[in-house]
Amino acid sequence: MSGTLTLVPTPIGNLSDISPRCRQALEEADFIAAEDTRVTLKLLNHLEIKKPLVSYYEHNKEFSGKKIVERILAGENCAQVSDAGSPAISDPGEDLVRLCAQSGITVTAIPGPCAAITALSISGLPTGRFTFEGFLSTTKKNRAAHLQSLQKEQRTMIFYEAPHKLSATLTDLEQAFGGERRISLCRELTKLHEEVLRMTLAEAVSFYTEQSPRGEYVLIVEGAPQEAEAEASMETALARVAVLIESGSSKKDAVRQVAQETGLSKNALYGAALK
Ligand code: SAM
Repeated sequence: MSGTLTLVPTPIGNLSDISPRCRQALEEADFIAAEDTRVTLKLLNHLEIKKPLVSYYEHNKEFSGKKIVERILAGENCAQVSDAGSPAISDPGEDLVRLCAQSGITVTAIPGPCAAITALSISGLPTGRFTFEGFLSTTKKNRAAHLQSLQKEQRTMIFYEAPHKLSATLTDLEQAFGGERRISLCRELTKLHEEVLRMTLAEAVSFYTEQSPRGEYVLIVEGAPQEAEAEASMETALARVAVLIESGSSKKDAVRQVAQETGLSKNALYGAALK
């Protein structure tokens, strides 16, 4: 009978965040697939668990993934961990989950530490709707395209970033979203120097021009204001009203027609047209 794959989240800074269920999953696994076996060995030593480790990371994932699937199909249970946080979230794991699912292997995820959700919850920005954007590409073109695709995004956005790239990323975010947009910079989460800096993008750019970023960061960026879209559609509607008037319609008829076409309120459109 086939074994299973269990994704085991590990602490993002505070060793006490390992849950009893995670500990049990590590103890009961036949082997552990780890992003960096040295990092995981430290955790296992702390937990006083001895277990065979195999390495599974970005550059060996194809070869190693196949071997892991073979072992699971032969009946072994595998626990997968990354260096910190939830495996498969901006971490190796996504492909292994897919491979296992394709082979009919049962995949289970234990809930636990995740930098993105920890940061979002204390950001002070709207949490009702959000998008996870992970790391921005280091390629200029892809990075620009990614940010451009987010320009009208109204949901709160979550980005991961390494400290040495933080300043450049803040500048790019300011350029894409404007200096007034709010950002919460969540650093060193769950660690001794945990801190949330809540400011505008313009303030964040100047803050990190004066001092160097330290530690790990999650950036939570406010979404575009709803009015932006409403304003844009009102502008388009007014332009259409003007065209109709120019081609002979009365203002009243033009407003009625455009209100019907766009679903905008006739009164609001008429008021805006009068202005
Ligand atoms: N899979 C992990 C998770 O979801 O928690 C994330 C791994 S990703 C390779 C690493 C990024 O997560 C870091 O560059 C940083 O943006 C964020 N991160 C991890 N630990 C953090 C911490 N303690 N405080 C702030 N950000 C952290």
